[in-house]
Amino acid sequence: MASPVSSRRVATLVSALVGVLSFVVLRTPGIGYGECENQPVPGTMEILTDYPPTCGLTELKPKEVDDVRVFAYNQKGGWCWSNSGVVYSVKRNEVTLIDVLTDPKQTEKLLQQVDKALPGAKLKTLVLTHCDVDHIGGFQLVQNMVEEVYAAKGCEDAMKAFYQSRMGVKVKLLHHAWRILDNPLTRRAFGGGDTVPRWLAKIAMAPLFDPFAWDKVSSWREISQGKFVTSELQGQRLTINEHVTLITVNVSSHSDHDLVAEVGGVRFVGDILFNGITPLIWSGTIHDALRVADDFGKNWDGFIVPGHGAIQHSFQKPFETSAGYWRNLLKVYEDKGQSEFTVSVLQLLPSVYRKWEDPERTLINLWVHELYENNPGAKVNKLGLIAKYMSHRPL
Ligand SMILES: [Zn+2]
Repeated sequence: MASPVSSRRVATLVSALVGVLSFVVLRTPGIGYGECENQPVPGTMEILTDYPPTCGLTELKPKEVDDVRVFAYNQKGGWCWSNSGVVYSVKRNEVTLIDVLTDPKQTEKLLQQVDKALPGAKLKTLVLTHCDVDHIGGFQLVQNMVEEVYAAKGCEDAMKAFYQSRMGVKVKLLHHAWRILDNPLTRRAFGGGDTVPRWLAKIAMAPLFDPFAWDKVSSWREISQGKFVTSELQGQRLTINEHVTLITVNVSSHSDHDLVAEVGGVRFVGDILFNGITPLIWSGTIHDALRVADDFGKNWDGFIVPGHGAIQHSFQKPFETSAGYWRNLLKVYEDKGQSEFTVSVLQLLPSVYRKWEDPERTLINLWVHELYENNPGAKVNKLGLIAKYMSHRPL
């Protein structure tokens, strides 16, 4: 039987622990605290003097267009800090929106800026460059406003999977768990060092996601009442609303349903291009990514709005730069053969690519490439790979 003294000690210890945990939980911000303005601009981003990276709407001045105004909504890049596009038909007083943002909070800011720049304009159409969470999370705000939603085939399934995944609940749990664990004392207990052990890496993903208000994203029950993708494109070019041409990317690389929206002298290319940030493939091999970069680097003269990072122009040859990365990465993979890739492999890349923001994402590209090389029909476990990457990158 426990002595009264030791019972009292245990009770004191438990209440102290509860006190510390409550303090940690209460003093840390909840999820959804992220502000674009607080994001750093990667030093390796290619910047056009007239179109520096900003947080908000910038009107582009392409030469070719008449009766239409084109804007990019920029967010400095990085995990989930994606870009959108706004095309305004002067004659029709209608807006075509290209992608929404990661959560309702960021998307609300986007819509407010559209309202301010184009008062009274009707939001008629939504185009989705692909259906990763950072391009669809604010969908609920426009779902019942737009008449049409265009995307490439495969997007609707990805959207449904996201809404059925209850991401808000998961991110909230991860957020609080990581806030409690992330301190020097526990870090030492978990083995020290600059990285987290593999078993803890899933929780350590929290800082990537918790700046966004996933908990404000509508439930599947709510969202399933309204429309989703109304027109799915497959292997085609289609001009909508007189001005906007949609071009499906017929090779899976970043996703298996990427789409480019072109209007006048501007191309919104989604995540087949990143600016100054290590790009990612989730749905294809390095060969596929190289093919996409080579294809879209040709026969185009004008602005290019990447999925993440500052606005570019074809004279900067962004797709050629991207192709250079994929070509060098393929060489790294072929030289290394089948092996357990770790950060040391990054040293084999030319320094220009190692300096890009988030260089450890290159490991994800090698893992995905290896997976599809060995099993072309495989299904990528994105969160599993992000957790694995977290155990390789500095905290
Ligand atoms: Zn993205």
